[in-house]
Amino acid sequence: MPLEDHIGDICRKARLQTKMDLVQCAEVAGLAVEELQAWETEGLIDREFNMLALAELVGLDAGKAVKVADGWGPAEVDLSRWAELRLITTAEGFEVNSFVAWDPVTRQATVFDTGWYADDIFALVELEDLKVEHLMITHMHGDHVAAMGDVRKRWPDIRLHTNNEGAPEKSRVQEGGVIEVGTLKITPRLTPGHAADGVTYVVEGWASAAPAVAVVGDAVFAGSMGKDFKTPALAQEKVRTEILAMPEDTLICPGHGPLTTVGEERAHNPFF
Ligand SMILES: [Zn+2]
Repeated sequence: MPLEDHIGDICRKARLQTKMDLVQCAEVAGLAVEELQAWETEGLIDREFNMLALAELVGLDAGKAVKVADGWGPAEVDLSRWAELRLITTAEGFEVNSFVAWDPVTRQATVFDTGWYADDIFALVELEDLKVEHLMITHMHGDHVAAMGDVRKRWPDIRLHTNNEGAPEKSRVQEGGVIEVGTLKITPRLTPGHAADGVTYVVEGWASAAPAVAVVGDAVFAGSMGKDFKTPALAQEKVRTEILAMPEDTLICPGHGPLTTVGEERAHNPFF
């Protein structure tokens, strides 16, 4: 799976988050404004320019940005280490990731976001003979919850977990309150920024003794982060303290793009 954002996207997000002047950015880069804008859109340009200076000006780690521009991607994750975790990607114009996790003995299961449609979730649940008890929402953006109606129709007793203001009190996540799904222990952490209702779910207690898993929604991607032009400092702070402070081998499951780890993002994400 390619990175969610190419280097042009990353610099554009950083420019808008830091509110740096477009003309000044172009000047520092040694590009015409139109050239900078084309590069931000395409991620490609056929001449040399000062990307280091531009990355620094917009608050990125310039060394990491250069590596992303040179084609860095996270090492491919061998998901079989987490025998009871599945990634489901659905596409409707663009792709979004959902996840399903379960206890291998009791078959109790939780779904993280529904994606555009739930057919693949339903098929997995039948194949693995799962009892879906929970629907955990990372944030209420349309791509992540498009199939929520179908999921709740199929399992009317499913427990919804969200930090959305519009949700009934019983569905609101309790920060730090552990939710048990069989032997799995799931701890919600509030990660507002890209979305005010952003939640990261930390899943521990894997039967295979595999490392913790963080289902992060769009808080952070491999090499980038979800856009937040209103509260960018808060978004970065939350990723730093709630996600990247976890052990290096923690698996990060983002809402878009490839799986990654805390170690990979600490070492390579230009926003951090
Ligand atoms: Zn999204």
